[in-house]
Amino acid sequence: MATDANGSSSQIGAIGSKPVQISEVRATTRESRTSAHSHIRGLGLRGDGFAEKNGGGFVGQGAAREACGVVVDLVKSRKLAGRAVLLAGGPGTGKTALALAVSQELGTKVPFCPITASEVYSTEVKKTEALMENFRRAIGLRVRETKEVYEGEVTELTPEEAENPLGTYGRTISHLLIVLRSTKGTKKLRLDPSIYEAITKERVRLGDVIYIEANTGAVKRVGRSDTFATEFDLEAEEYVPIPKGDVHKKKEVVQDVTLHDLDIANSRPQGGQDVMSMMGQLMKPRKTEITEKLREEINKVVNRYIDQGAAELVPGVLFIDEVHMLDIECFTYLNRALESTISPIVILASNRGNCTIRGTTDLVSSHGIPPDLLPRLLIIPTHPYNSAEIRTILSTRARLEYSTPSAPSLNSNPSQPSITATLTLSDEALDALTTQGENVSLRYALQLLAPAGILARCRGSEGAVVGKEDVEEAVSLFWDAGRSAGMLREGAAGFIN
Ligand code: ATP
Repeated sequence: MATDANGSSSQIGAIGSKPVQISEVRATTRESRTSAHSHIRGLGLRGDGFAEKNGGGFVGQGAAREACGVVVDLVKSRKLAGRAVLLAGGPGTGKTALALAVSQELGTKVPFCPITASEVYSTEVKKTEALMENFRRAIGLRVRETKEVYEGEVTELTPEEAENPLGTYGRTISHLLIVLRSTKGTKKLRLDPSIYEAITKERVRLGDVIYIEANTGAVKRVGRSDTFATEFDLEAEEYVPIPKGDVHKKKEVVQDVTLHDLDIANSRPQGGQDVMSMMGQLMKPRKTEITEKLREEINKVVNRYIDQGAAELVPGVLFIDEVHMLDIECFTYLNRALESTISPIVILASNRGNCTIRGTTDLVSSHGIPPDLLPRLLIIPTHPYNSAEIRTILSTRARLEYSTPSAPSLNSNPSQPSITATLTLSDEALDALTTQGENVSLRYALQLLAPAGILARCRGSEGAVVGKEDVEEAVSLFWDAGRSAGMLREGAAGFIN
């Protein structure tokens, strides 16, 4: 089986006659969703569990961070089963940042799956199905496999090919010899075309030491050798595939995937991992259904692997923001899913007080959460920030947002300077932003950072330093939600009511 486009891919067990595919599906949307929290590196707690004033990228919110620390301990001692956490507090008080920090405290490979409750509503997928999908995105599986690999050195073929490195993209390699050193002596092998392709992808050059996985034929470059053999064979035309039995080395490979990755990999039509068919999938995504039956089968194989000690479950964090947007049916489903033996840590968040439970006509409850779920929640309040805290958060974000160059995209114009080049805030600009944070919201003040940076650049400010005037201009150009609502209340002209 070939490696897939996103990284490695392999197999465990079997569903019927088909082997279970393990492959990691990397989603960029979720990464961009957490980029606003790139300064968060944990809860910033001391060894005794108390919060540093500023720590882990956090400023203040000490009690909530300490409570989250207790949650981490509960998870580690497996005492949170059947329950969930609710972070309750106003907008921009760090609820998402806290949930992310909990997942970071649980380990580096622990999945963090943030969603907004309203995402479960779509015309294409049932809401409970969407919830289930996200549950499975938040459950990791660490698979340990012992792979059998050949160790060999790439040798030259013809004198002219010896001049140039092999593996340049687009080049056809007609013959390539690998000298395998095994316990049974040195062996020359000509490779079959699929392995040429893999070698080309890995940019293997003369003198490289490579591994070829015995069961998949996947090629990995692992180093250089000064003593590679120089024999070559010009005559033979036919390709000889690598024999499967002659194993040189065993290597433990650890792969982290989520249950959702397994669902996707096994619902997709198998094969077709070449570039053309991947492009085809991009242009016209193949909608293959992940059925309940498939999930059950995958669970069975996963459980078998866990029993055999070949895999372990890594429960991650499912963060559901704006939980009041879930309706009564979703809450019933959530209640049941929390009871499941395979469940992630569920952290809910709401910035609402009392409100009607969605899907009922008049049932009012705290945060719009039904009374049967509320007692199963550990509720952690978050509080608004004072001006010193807002100021520190703003200057931290300003430093970070402007020091990390944005990834190039298809739309980026290389001739235009990157807006994320060096940029600093003057003290007056920071004061003005802090005032906006206090009077409007931290989120609004954070959103003004990037526009103020662009305005400073357009103004030709020396060193692109953001001044007070840039912040004021950004405030005049971009309304906050309160100002917008105020204008509408006053019946601003031009709107259809
Ligand atoms: P909402 O209710 O609108 O979803 P929220 O409570 O989830 O908001 P966040 O999105 O976590 O708020 O916070 C807004 C921004 O402020 C993020 O960039 C976050 O990382 C940052 N932030 C919030 N609180 C803190 C804090 N105590 N220390 C450092 N950064 C913080």
